[in-house]
Amino acid sequence: MNLHEYQGKEILASFGVRIQRGIVAHNKKEAVDAAKQLTQETGTSWHVIKAQVHAGGRGKGGGVKLAKNLKEVESIAEEIIGMNLVTPQTSAEGKKVHQVLVAEDVYYPGDSDTEEYYMSVLLNRAESRVMIMYSPEGGMDIEEVADKTPHLIFTEEIDPATGLLPFQARKIAFNLGLSGTAFKEMTRFVSSLYKAYEQSDASLFEINPVLKTSDDKILAVDAKVSLDDNALFRRKQYAEMRDLREENPIEVEARAVGLNYVDLDGNVGCMVNGAGLAMATMDLIKMAGGEPANFLDVGGTADAKRVEEAFRIILKDANVKAILINIFGGIVRCDRVAQGVVDAYKNMGDAIKVPIIVRLQGTNAELAKEILDNSGLAVHSAVQFQEAADKVKEVLA
Ligand code: GDP
Ligand code: MN
Repeated sequence: MNLHEYQGKEILASFGVRIQRGIVAHNKKEAVDAAKQLTQETGTSWHVIKAQVHAGGRGKGGGVKLAKNLKEVESIAEEIIGMNLVTPQTSAEGKKVHQVLVAEDVYYPGDSDTEEYYMSVLLNRAESRVMIMYSPEGGMDIEEVADKTPHLIFTEEIDPATGLLPFQARKIAFNLGLSGTAFKEMTRFVSSLYKAYEQSDASLFEINPVLKTSDDKILAVDAKVSLDDNALFRRKQYAEMRDLREENPIEVEARAVGLNYVDLDGNVGCMVNGAGLAMATMDLIKMAGGEPANFLDVGGTADAKRVEEAFRIILKDANVKAILINIFGGIVRCDRVAQGVVDAYKNMGDAIKVPIIVRLQGTNAELAKEILDNSGLAVHSAVQFQEAADKVKEVLA
């Protein structure tokens, strides 16, 4: 689950990470009130107005703007709220902005002593370890830094048994070229950031930029945070931060009926049991010249009700030109699954207008094929993987 910048910063602040302070606003009046309140609290009269959408690169798309007085706060908030923000990370249509973060300006005017760093905490899957990735070259274009000057990207791996050790935090501060107060501030920043990551069951905390102010404070100016969906049951206060408006509507519906569904760009819908088989099926579709329209793991029970729910979800995607059902029948026998497919198909009346290829393997596979072949429905049955791939190719041609 992804969070908005303001929510990520809330979590950071609760673990003692210093942040650029801000208040969320939904319209220009709230924005002006927020700016006034921030001025009272922080003394700054300049503010940045930041679009809150689940996408990076907002600065480049015109979603982050500096306001030097309340009039500008009002006009910029009015301009940004309601706009479709297009950034290098959104689709061409962009994302609708429902709210902005009105934040204190932390780049003191005329000040050349500020520095922008990059820092993220994430899981290094190859090493099975959490790592901190950081660079003295933060700001907007970290991808370019990684591309052109990869030696300026550092990583620090963390032993799960010990957690982040003090010498590691010092090494990071040293590699960022800091000394004195800023050095101490950075070690504190890093250890609080790591604690926030660990105790929120996050999969990513990306802070770009981390700012060093001219008076040697280290603070998070941006926050991109993803939390592990599978841990949300024990993080109720974070689970409530979910903003469904930012998520793919088909995925939201699939989650509501308990299906593991990920929307993709292709034209062949997949209905599979087991995540591993689902991945293999997507490969199979590619090899047959198609592109998977989704990842869908129906889980252990592939009965008629479940198959029907899956059909409905897959068919919401208008790009789907064919559906490949690839199910391994172990405890759930293939003939039961086949009957489930037939029943679901019939239940749906004429909702299914695309060819269906069904490959069932496992207990009673031959019997299942008979059920499908004798159903009188536009269902192509297959027992072998290759057969299924050939049929996909055939119906796409
Ligand atoms: P992103 O473009 O989506 O990554 O959004 P960021 O929160 O990183 O903001 C983009 C850029 O806006 C940053 O790299 C900063 O250079 C700039 N910015 C952010 N906060 C301030 C601020 O308080 N004052 C000024 N002048 N610029 C800021
Ligand atoms: Mn950023």
